[in-house]
Amino acid sequence: MDRQIVDHRGPEFAACTLEILPAMRALVKSKDAHIVLYPSSGTGAWEAAISNVLSPGDRVIVAETGMFSNQWADLTRRFGITVDLIPGDWRHGADPDEIAKRLREDREKKIAAVMLAHNETATGVTSRVRDVRAAIDSAGHPALLMVDTVSSLASIDYRHDEWRVDVMVCGSQKGLMLPPGLGINVVSRKALEASKRARLPRSYFDWTPIIEANAQGFYPYTPPTSMFFGLRESLRILHEEGLENTFARHARLAEATRRAVVGWGLEILARDPREYSNTVTAVLVPENVDADGVRLKILERFDVSLGVGLGRVKGKIFRIGHLGSINEVMLAGVLCAVQMGLRLSGIDLGDGIGPALEYLAEPERAPALA
Ligand code: PLP
Repeated sequence: MDRQIVDHRGPEFAACTLEILPAMRALVKSKDAHIVLYPSSGTGAWEAAISNVLSPGDRVIVAETGMFSNQWADLTRRFGITVDLIPGDWRHGADPDEIAKRLREDREKKIAAVMLAHNETATGVTSRVRDVRAAIDSAGHPALLMVDTVSSLASIDYRHDEWRVDVMVCGSQKGLMLPPGLGINVVSRKALEASKRARLPRSYFDWTPIIEANAQGFYPYTPPTSMFFGLRESLRILHEEGLENTFARHARLAEATRRAVVGWGLEILARDPREYSNTVTAVLVPENVDADGVRLKILERFDVSLGVGLGRVKGKIFRIGHLGSINEVMLAGVLCAVQMGLRLSGIDLGDGIGPALEYLAEPERAPALA
């Protein structure tokens, strides 16, 4: 990324775009979905997803999994869309049975979309998108499936075509190992058709002019060229490692993190092991402890920044991120810092990180991928 800025209407930039688009398609496991990249954060990509396929008065289902699912729901309401929130306890993923039930009850097929976060970053819970797809199919409902992969893409397996996701939403700053600054939509043929009928106002985020200009590698406006060169490199790194190897590495590091949490005698916020996140682990602290105090100690003493508890879980949890450009030694350093910070906070440490380090020292074998 640290290179001379090039002419975004010249051949070097076009070549970069034309390398990125198929590499992104391979990353999301799609043969022909449209990849749309925006100079935005993930929130812009949320808005793009909504404004391209919905119309005023539409109704959607959002599965509540934590703060991010709820923020997407709020954004959607601001567009005049009615949101049926399926309430969640912030310790579980989207419930496929409840989604199927709601869709079956919708006899007139008024629900335009089912929306969920593949990985709820606020809670460390990964929803089973495949099962949600099966639920939609079992109800025989035509709703679009919209999935936020901000904290799963390039770290946890995601199958756009197989799961028949219609609009995927992502950002550059997590598994893609880039700075913040790129928003991403992945658009199915069905979603593109829906966008032709959709009546919410849209301009900057309109898919059509971008897809048209992208065919030659260009943009309808000035694209963030440095981010594109960064993304090209990220995709090269990911494909060089091999996606399945990348997912296995994340699964291994996540499992080691969970063993450390158990070793500390603490509780993982996610309750269902099928939904444990391989990118972020949320850890409940004992009731008499302020999680933010622990986080601050670890930041000040060891220069390690843990994720804050967001919304309803503020002060009750801290989050260990283990995604992107990370290996065993980096994770072990983080776990050591957390252990020392917990000790400084007077928390009884049990076996500590011993079992986690033993696990990391075993010959490489990943827990079965979901
Ligand atoms: N969705 C999820 C799951 C997120 O974790 C985030 C941010 O962390 C967002 C959406 C919003 O993205 P951004 O902060 O890049 O706008």
